[in-house]
Amino acid sequence: MKEDLYKYYKELGISKEVIDYSSSILGDLKERFDKIDETAEYNQLKVIRAMQKNQVSEMHFEGSTGYGYTDAGRDTLEAVFADVFHTEDALVRAQIACGTHALTIALFGNLRPGDEIISISGKPYDTLEGVIGIRETKGSLAEYGVCYKQVELLSDGSFDFEGIKNTITEKTKLVEIQRSKGYLPRPSLGVKEIGEAVRFVKSIREDIIVMVDNCYGEFVEEDEPSDFGADLVVGSLIKNPGGGLAPLGGYIAGTKECVENASYRLMTPGLGKEVGASLNVNRSFYQGLFLAPVVTAAALKGAVFAANLYERLGFRVVPNGSEPRHDIIQAVEFGFPEGVIKFCQGIQAAAPVDSHVVPEPWAMPGYDADVIMAAGAFISGASIELSADGPMKPPYAVYFQGGLTWYHAKFGIMKSLQSLIDGGYIKTDRLINV
Ligand SMILES: *Cc1c(COP(=O)(O)O)cnc(C)c1O
Repeated sequence: MKEDLYKYYKELGISKEVIDYSSSILGDLKERFDKIDETAEYNQLKVIRAMQKNQVSEMHFEGSTGYGYTDAGRDTLEAVFADVFHTEDALVRAQIACGTHALTIALFGNLRPGDEIISISGKPYDTLEGVIGIRETKGSLAEYGVCYKQVELLSDGSFDFEGIKNTITEKTKLVEIQRSKGYLPRPSLGVKEIGEAVRFVKSIREDIIVMVDNCYGEFVEEDEPSDFGADLVVGSLIKNPGGGLAPLGGYIAGTKECVENASYRLMTPGLGKEVGASLNVNRSFYQGLFLAPVVTAAALKGAVFAANLYERLGFRVVPNGSEPRHDIIQAVEFGFPEGVIKFCQGIQAAAPVDSHVVPEPWAMPGYDADVIMAAGAFISGASIELSADGPMKPPYAVYFQGGLTWYHAKFGIMKSLQSLIDGGYIKTDRLINV
């Protein structure tokens, strides 16, 4: 490493041992990083082609007010999303408050009383438990007479095809698959694997809607679940596809009918996609999508770097240092609470925003243990920005993701290790003798 760069890291509180250890880890990751760059290059072209095809122009960055009738920027953006995901249509709106909201309108818009929904990747994301009514919640799908069933993944993390076949009935209207593991100790699902499940479900009954919770998975691979027949892919714009610039929002891409049904739930029956002013968000949605493949690559490099850095120190990391990636989330199991705390404090200390704040574990609504969260983000709550959190309970694992640039992700991870060392939880000689 160049002397002046070395000096800079030291000024920012990173010791020589951590710098050298990080460099040695990185030395072995060249091929992995090349592969990530290749995927980003492919996806960058995919996005550019979609923008060119739809003749994105300066006028599309103008927003609308009021009802938002004939908002060309909004409508063209939706056409661009549909082309990126190779779907018939898309709903991409500032009125979608978060990923959970996008999933909610996709579900409520497409399900009717008496219908049955089956999650075939085990328990869905925490917030969806309330939406579906797995956990009794006011206004849930269960209250509207939608019945829920669940098929667990097999112990090796793959789909239980036999179980799926036995669970589907006449009433099954929609099958849900969650691509990312979220906060569960299972592997994330690859797009091809999801494709096999889609084909299997469709072979049982063609008209079953397959919806994929695509959160954290966008642009990690060259294909998306919609390339393999999923009827709906749904996600958040303050994660991968917003590229760090989208200040809010969510998307639903899929078949014309499924997207239209969702739009009637977001807006009103009859009005649907016709209304919904974009105010001033169009430019950031376009520019964020444009940057998203590269931002996702930065986050992925950070995840791979961290996995290898902590794995070599003897900690369990999920995914491990060498396996393929299907989302941007990385878990590190410390096995002791201070590991989680020091890690998060290091991530926070490396942030461009609020680096002077020291996060502490806290009781949060909806969690059964205290949780610590680190985020120094430009967009509040954006988890495509470098962020980490962990519940204060065994196995004392921290989940982290994001990084708008690889250099920030790298610095944040180095800082997390430094924080553990400064706290006395990792001895420096462990770095030297690996
Ligand atoms: C983030 C996420 C969601 C939605 O979360 P929001 O916080 O509502 O944006 C849903 N599913 C998965 C797998 C997620 O990672």
